[in-house]
Amino acid sequence: MERFKQKLQAAAIPFRENEPLAAHCTFKIGGPAQLFVMPENEQQLCSAVALCKELAVRYYLLGNGSNILFADEGFSGVVIDVSALDAEIAVEDTVLTAGAGVRLAALCKAALKHGLSGLEFAYGIPGTVGGAVYMNAGAYGGEMKDVLTTVRYLAAEGEVREVPAAELDLRYRHSIFEENSGCILSAQFHLQPGNAADIRAKMDELMAKRVEK
Ligand SMILES: Cc1cc2nc3c(=O)[nH]c(=O)nc-3n(C[C@H](O)[C@H](O)[C@H](O)COP(=O)(O)OP(=O)(O)OC[C@H]3O[C@@H](n4cnc5c(N)ncnc54)[C@H](O)[C@@H]3O)c2cc1C
Repeated sequence: MERFKQKLQAAAIPFRENEPLAAHCTFKIGGPAQLFVMPENEQQLCSAVALCKELAVRYYLLGNGSNILFADEGFSGVVIDVSALDAEIAVEDTVLTAGAGVRLAALCKAALKHGLSGLEFAYGIPGTVGGAVYMNAGAYGGEMKDVLTTVRYLAAEGEVREVPAAELDLRYRHSIFEENSGCILSAQFHLQPGNAADIRAKMDELMAKRVEK
């Protein structure tokens, strides 16, 4: 772990020691992570994962922490906070590309801003793009599978791959990432041109249902 910390420092990758995990998940439970790494960009994320592998350090990828429970004794190893990444969203015509750390709320608002329909179902799911792709998140009749076209990820073997959604075995709350240990870096969505007022109304309607429940 000492060598790992030195390498993080040399690469200027931010980290904290004994970080309480309760502060990083929805249910506000869990003891400290031995090391909590906060990569600021994709390159730092890939380097942090590569360093864990090189030094045989146990690691865990954390998104927004809305679908995990950490143990009271904490995590012996490294928790890599993907949500710390720069929140990058690019829009080109009807195609939206977002980094793994982008919150779904921000993604949905970007789609709304550009008059793009298809992601309304995701408004209110409290996760990141990475976490949502990982488990094919869905609600109210929609799921990531409906709009996802490609995913870039850091494969367990160490190289960055870009794969079409059709190859991700997306089904009910499942993707290949649950088996292949890949680190999702970004995802691309194909949406439909729509009326901003209608999109906003749908998002508000679904959010109201969530609040009510
Ligand atoms: C109040 C509430 C409402 C919810 N409503 C819904 C709902 O309507 N529909 C639904 O589907 N889910 C729902 N969820 C569950 C949760 O929001 C989703 O599962 C969400 O997609 C998790 O994203 P996250 O970023 O919080 O992931 P986390 O909880 O941080 O992580 C979940 C899993 O994804 C993995 N992971 C995260 N990022 C990456 C990455 N970049 N690369 C590889 N693996 C990664 C983690 O290792 C972990 O195994 C809800 C949860 C709460 C608390």
